[in-house]
Amino acid sequence: MEKLPQVAYFCMEYGLHHSFKQYAGGLGILAGDHLKGAHDEKLPLVGLGILWKQGYGDQRIDDHGNPYDSYEIQQYENLEDTGVRVSVKIRQRQVKCKLWKTEAYGNAPLYLLDTDLEENDGADRWITGQLYGWFGEERIAQEMVLGIGGIRALRALGLECDVYHFNEGHALFAGFELLREKIYQGLSFHEAWQETRREVVFTTHTPIVQGNESHPLDRLIYMGANNGLTLEQMVELGGAPFNMTVGALRLARRANAVAQLHGETANAMWAHVDNRCEILAITNAIHLPTWVDMPLMDLKGKELWDRHQKNKQDLIGFIKKRTGQELKADRLLIGFSRRAAPYKRSDFIFSDPKVVGPLFKEGKIQIVFSGKAHPLDDTGKTIVANLVEMSKKYPDSVVFLENYDMEIGAALTRGADVWLNNPRRPKEASGTSGMKAAINGVLNLSTLDGWWPEICDHDKNGWQFGDGFVSEDEEIHDSHDLKDLYKVLQDKVIPLYYSNQDGWIKMMQNSISDCRDQFAVKRMLNEYYQKLYILPDAKTAKKESKSKTKSSKKK
Ligand SMILES: *Cc1c(COP(=O)(O)O)cnc(C)c1O
Repeated sequence: MEKLPQVAYFCMEYGLHHSFKQYAGGLGILAGDHLKGAHDEKLPLVGLGILWKQGYGDQRIDDHGNPYDSYEIQQYENLEDTGVRVSVKIRQRQVKCKLWKTEAYGNAPLYLLDTDLEENDGADRWITGQLYGWFGEERIAQEMVLGIGGIRALRALGLECDVYHFNEGHALFAGFELLREKIYQGLSFHEAWQETRREVVFTTHTPIVQGNESHPLDRLIYMGANNGLTLEQMVELGGAPFNMTVGALRLARRANAVAQLHGETANAMWAHVDNRCEILAITNAIHLPTWVDMPLMDLKGKELWDRHQKNKQDLIGFIKKRTGQELKADRLLIGFSRRAAPYKRSDFIFSDPKVVGPLFKEGKIQIVFSGKAHPLDDTGKTIVANLVEMSKKYPDSVVFLENYDMEIGAALTRGADVWLNNPRRPKEASGTSGMKAAINGVLNLSTLDGWWPEICDHDKNGWQFGDGFVSEDEEIHDSHDLKDLYKVLQDKVIPLYYSNQDGWIKMMQNSISDCRDQFAVKRMLNEYYQKLYILPDAKTAKKESKSKTKSSKKK
């Protein structure tokens, strides 16, 4: 077997365990599962990230039913001080970074940079203070520590890497450090760019425009993020204002989107960017031992049903402990947990109280929600407040669990009967919580967005609603999807649950068998190696670059 390339994986956040609050959401969960999968499969990969002093904030609900954020200094165990120190010049000050290592992942270790050192200026100690805590200068400083500091850490460790993987544009400044190294050795900017391109791969995420960071050039230069590049060179890479995703698409040899549909969306979204790499699609997946009740996967019939009932009972107990509400084990239980971003439409099911009011009142359906809003997103907070209000209106059948984290995520995706997902297509890049549910025998009820169109076999392994409808007009889009959601819920889901247990079990079996390999991290990592990490040999590389010049000439 040929030797696999050594990969350095860069990400702002890692979701490894609920007690290690170094993650905010799906991006971190993906990074954590990527690392765990690499460990299981004995792949040569190291992770680079930041040790966040306060991690990601907690979000609880106050007495008036409104969410509020709080931050606590975290105590971390099982971190090893590597003894390595690197420094990054930020705002003309040398900021020292200490390098920690998590011991848990052997061949796939995670290295974390930390600026909270006595020798640093007071403000600089807080650069690694809060995950996504601030915008503007602070965000740039964080990204400089991750990117520039990350490459320097690899050099100090003496770790030779063949591929640098930027998971999201946050890590782009690592590319600037790779450029600087080569320019320092005497290459011109364009020669250095060509060389760097051979080493870098990039994963793009949200198709929401505002989710793709851009920064004013003068601010980047004031911070020192240009790392020796001139203004013109910066513009050539990322435009003006400087867009991190655009920069990464121009600095990478290849990029990927995180589901097949997202591949189409991302290619259309970035079609206007010249001189960029191609964007392939590699659908996300999950680390099964983290998310799935492993013994359940192999059960059939009544045994599968009973095992699921036990998981459901565990969830009901978990909810009772957290909120005091007691759901009923013999009633249909829907799960929903998402960051409260408007396009995800968390409170969608409540849109027409005439339809759903009686269903909740009679206890025909029960629903458990969880999810945080971004601390600065007032619309998201209104959505959370509305969910809390609904849990007060229907206390016997609607639950809101505050402070969404991996523990809640795992409990819900094991113990619910149905997993509801209703983003406005095509805004959801992938959505891995539905995969967790599917492989736990929890049936997906979802719009055809993210990963779901790839495997949805309506009425066989789950349900779709909306038929892939898309509209520029949000009102039209919503009313179309809502009608269909209610229809599928009332004509399919509810009757099947209450009157055809065998049919339900059959669908659980299909859901598990259709998804357990396809959405397991092993398949995903294999694709990353085959399509992204393993450098195409010189001949294919030449062909590729030729066909690219041809196609760009055609335009
Ligand atoms: C799985 C998970 C996610 C990602 O799921 P989505 O479907 O993308 O929302 C985010 N946060 C937590 C805590 C999770 O467990």
